[in-house]
Amino acid sequence: MSALKWSNSYLIALKLAVGLLLVLLLVLFWVLRQNEMEEQRSTLIADVLWLEQNINFHLEGGAENFQQLAHDLPREANKQALFRLRAEYLLKNNPDILQIVWIDDTARVRETLPARALARLGADGMDGMDAALFRQNVNMAHKLGKIVYTDAYSTPEGAQFEMYLPIFGDGRYQGALIGVFSFSGVLKNLVPWWFAEKYQVRILDGEGNLLASKSRVSNADTTINYAVPFDPPGFGMVLRVDVYRGHGNFTRNLLTASVIALAGAVLLSLWVMRGHIRRRIAAEQAQRSEHAFRKAMEDSLTVGMRARDLAGKITYVNPAFCQMVGFGESELIGASPPMPYWAPEEIERTRAINDAVIGGRMSREGFELRLMHKDGGRLDALIYEAPLVGADGRQSGWMASVVDVTARKRMEDLARRQQEKLQATARLVSMGELASTLAHELNQPLAAITSYATGCLNKLESGKFSADELQTALTRLGVQAQRAGRIIRHVHDFVRKSEPRLVPCRLIELVDGSIGLIEPAAKLAHVRIEREILANPELMGDRIQIEQVLLNLMRNAVEAMSAASVSSKRRRLTIRVCLLEDQVQIYVIDRGPGIPGDVLDKLFTPFFSTKADGMGMGLKICRSIIEFHRGRLWIEENPEGGAILAISLPVIPSS
Ligand code: ADP
Repeated sequence: MSALKWSNSYLIALKLAVGLLLVLLLVLFWVLRQNEMEEQRSTLIADVLWLEQNINFHLEGGAENFQQLAHDLPREANKQALFRLRAEYLLKNNPDILQIVWIDDTARVRETLPARALARLGADGMDGMDAALFRQNVNMAHKLGKIVYTDAYSTPEGAQFEMYLPIFGDGRYQGALIGVFSFSGVLKNLVPWWFAEKYQVRILDGEGNLLASKSRVSNADTTINYAVPFDPPGFGMVLRVDVYRGHGNFTRNLLTASVIALAGAVLLSLWVMRGHIRRRIAAEQAQRSEHAFRKAMEDSLTVGMRARDLAGKITYVNPAFCQMVGFGESELIGASPPMPYWAPEEIERTRAINDAVIGGRMSREGFELRLMHKDGGRLDALIYEAPLVGADGRQSGWMASVVDVTARKRMEDLARRQQEKLQATARLVSMGELASTLAHELNQPLAAITSYATGCLNKLESGKFSADELQTALTRLGVQAQRAGRIIRHVHDFVRKSEPRLVPCRLIELVDGSIGLIEPAAKLAHVRIEREILANPELMGDRIQIEQVLLNLMRNAVEAMSAASVSSKRRRLTIRVCLLEDQVQIYVIDRGPGIPGDVLDKLFTPFFSTKADGMGMGLKICRSIIEFHRGRLWIEENPEGGAILAISLPVIPSS
């Protein structure tokens, strides 16, 4: 599964888990709340029943006291005193009783305690409606012979109700006792403080209107409630008790709030993480595209790429490099010098170059190296090395781009060989002309040899000779034979073109070798040779060829200074060697007549010569040889007069 899909599934699973957790928490809270409500309800019912019982008990106790008074009044002589005594007692012990009235059998008020007039009681001052009700209640009590309660009615002091109790004595109806009760008095008197702390207690009439309430807080917020009939007095009145909301559930609320806050925090962090993951996925995607792009680019490259660490160990190769050398990536990565693709015949040079690269002494211009394919074949590679600098700005190794120049080299080689063949052919063509010169040149030593030989033979035949004479003649003969041999070898060397053999060689040895060869001719022409050796580098080259080049240039210089116009003071040939970066510069400086402009243009044309016996091939061949050695040959004008022939050649970097 890809990282993207995995991250998505992970996110979905996480979201589901958090959602499920939230649902479970809500269910848990709901169940807890239900349990708590159930518990609250049972407690409420028990409390309400207790309160109802308490009120009933109290009212019944009051009614009993009234009944006792109603029983005792007819039998008492001093009725008024008894009423006052008992009524006062009752009022004192029952704050819910507002007033006690005693009426006679004609419904006239005999006594009232407290002695203030009440709107509804006593015919006096009562309005029609109230008077009728009063009579109806008195009559009802009389007829039924038992306590009658009235419906609730409101007064400025609050809602009230009345209790009518008929008085019978000596077998006849003698009047009635009336108790006026206050609903709020009932609650105030009978609902204990702890009850009011927990509940809101209210008495409502049959239509649900509030008659009285005892509440710790006004407009209290309540949850569950329970109501029981408020009987007596009845008439559909109810005692209703409500539980305050939030009573005692501070801890639970805190817990709920904490859990919700935590769930919120989890959701928030999930959201933040989602953003985070998305950004990461986007970054990874970008990185993958970048990687794919780079890979495609590397795979399509025909240039080999190879990275090495600072110790020279291979850390990276691209497919083009693997293909070039025939080794697989796994065979190359981790390999240290000598590398498996180093050509054994060039191992020393390769190692020297490798050390120069690792030591940071290699120029950026690139170098050519012969490498070995895994199948043993050889390839010529042009290599450019550059420091590998990491993101922290520190160099971590070297990166090389390797171009296979084998085909190009082969083409160049072929062209060179064809050119050489052409030159050889040209030389052969010139051989005809050369033959006469050669015959002329050889004639002299051969004639001398013949005459020395004849002379010796004559001496031997005559018998008159000394050993010294013979030795002198034979030595001269030998010198002439050597001279003839040199002439022939020179021609042979010129006609034959051998394959160059590149080996490391010290330049100074080549320079001195060539000076040694030109010295006799220079002496003859009275030319002094000056050496200015400012560097002695090592280079890869064919000794013979480079010596031949130097000799050629020196010979041209000596010949130029042999002209009669050149004073003996000026006849100085200077060989100057110095180093310029990784190239050695060799200057062959003469003080001859210099090279005129028209000659300069034709200088490198084959067979161009200003000399009577010149071949006109020297400079052309010299330039080919130097270019074969990846160097340059050019001509400068000597400010002192004369010509400067200059050569530059790459050197082997010294480790
Ligand atoms: P050759 O020496 O056989 O003539 P080269 O190719 O060596 O052939 O030289 C071609 C011509 O370049 C010479 O004939 C000469 O005119 C000119 N030349 C070469 N070197 C010098 C020099 N140092 N000073 C003046 N002329 C030179």
